Amino acid sequence: MKAGIVGLPNVGKSTLFNSLSNAKAQSANFPFCTIEPNIGVVNVPDPRLERLAEIVNPERVIPATVEIVDIAGLVKGASKGEGLGNQFLGNIRETDAIIHVLRCFEDDNVVHVDGSVDPIRDKETIDIELQLKDLETAEKKLDKVKRAAKTGQKEAQKEAEILQKIITWLEQGKSVRSLEVDDEDRVNFIKPLQFITDKPVMYVCNVNENDAVNGNTMVEKIKNVSRDENALVLTLAVGIEADIAELESYEERQMFLEDIGLEEPGVSKLIRLAYNLLNQQTYFTAGEKEVRAWTVRKGSTAPEAAGVIHTDFQKGFIRAEVISFSDYDKYASESKIREAGKLRIEGKDYIVKDGDVMNFRFNV
Ligand code: GDP
Repeated sequence: MKAGIVGLPNVGKSTLFNSLSNAKAQSANFPFCTIEPNIGVVNVPDPRLERLAEIVNPERVIPATVEIVDIAGLVKGASKGEGLGNQFLGNIRETDAIIHVLRCFEDDNVVHVDGSVDPIRDKETIDIELQLKDLETAEKKLDKVKRAAKTGQKEAQKEAEILQKIITWLEQGKSVRSLEVDDEDRVNFIKPLQFITDKPVMYVCNVNENDAVNGNTMVEKIKNVSRDENALVLTLAVGIEADIAELESYEERQMFLEDIGLEEPGVSKLIRLAYNLLNQQTYFTAGEKEVRAWTVRKGSTAPEAAGVIHTDFQKGFIRAEVISFSDYDKYASESKIREAGKLRIEGKDYIVKDGDVMNFRFNV
């Protein structure tokens, strides 16, 4: 799973990326590693994993992760190749979700590329670039499809119709994600084109410390304009997140957070939301060697979940032994769980639930 951070220059993207990259300081179970200067892997904070580790006492504990990519360099004209625009837009296409950072703080010392602080305008500037890129994609595809439609192919005629609808929509300054289309058409014709503005989005409203808890009028405006977009809006004081990340001990961080009125670092919340945004859930495996959180799409079957560990597990799937996290937590030992009859045997049609602790039986 990969989420890309976008936004205009000087809105706080790299500060956010760096506080994520320093997130190891936020909890002993929160390591981060940088793959490339602008790519990092962040652990999904999950108290359930810690509880399982406490019960099982394994050799190692491995959390679920989200990959974060800092996509710098988006400016007005990027879709037309302004700056390194096109290259960056290519990077966005490879992500599963978008974290769009908006400057919702005043600070005369931080220059704004358009001269004043106005997150609604900024959002539009970035949205337009992404929409123009998608327009290019849709038009190219329509050209091809039209040729096929001329030969009388029914499917192609249908596809051309949908592409035309998308083009008109984008030309109105709207994003593909908010277009109403039949689910089947979306899967057949829209998903394969990987439109940037079809990806789920989270707006991170970057505010000053004083607004960290309650936000401000700019945040409210963003909430209003994004209401129809199926988007998440998160208020985050990115500047103080960087300070929090630098504190060494857990106690120091808690004191700092309490002073501001926050219960947890904003970046922990961001990571959890990103996970939701990507429509993912967690199941666990718990053995003496390893207690581990695995990521699966919501609605996955047991064999699909097994396939996340290894494709052979999916191919040779026989059955799964499943314990819900709440039972694991309650009985705190596998033998007690068995005695209580809380270990279920599930077959290949079982839909995995968030927090299931699973053990797979399979043929090799
Ligand atoms: P990027 O170009 O979007 O990556 O922006 P940066 O992360 O480099 O931030 C630009 C400038 O804004 C830096 O000087 C940051 O210290 C500052 N900055 C970032 N977030 C905040 C904030 O929440 N409040 C204030 N006052 N300054 C911030």
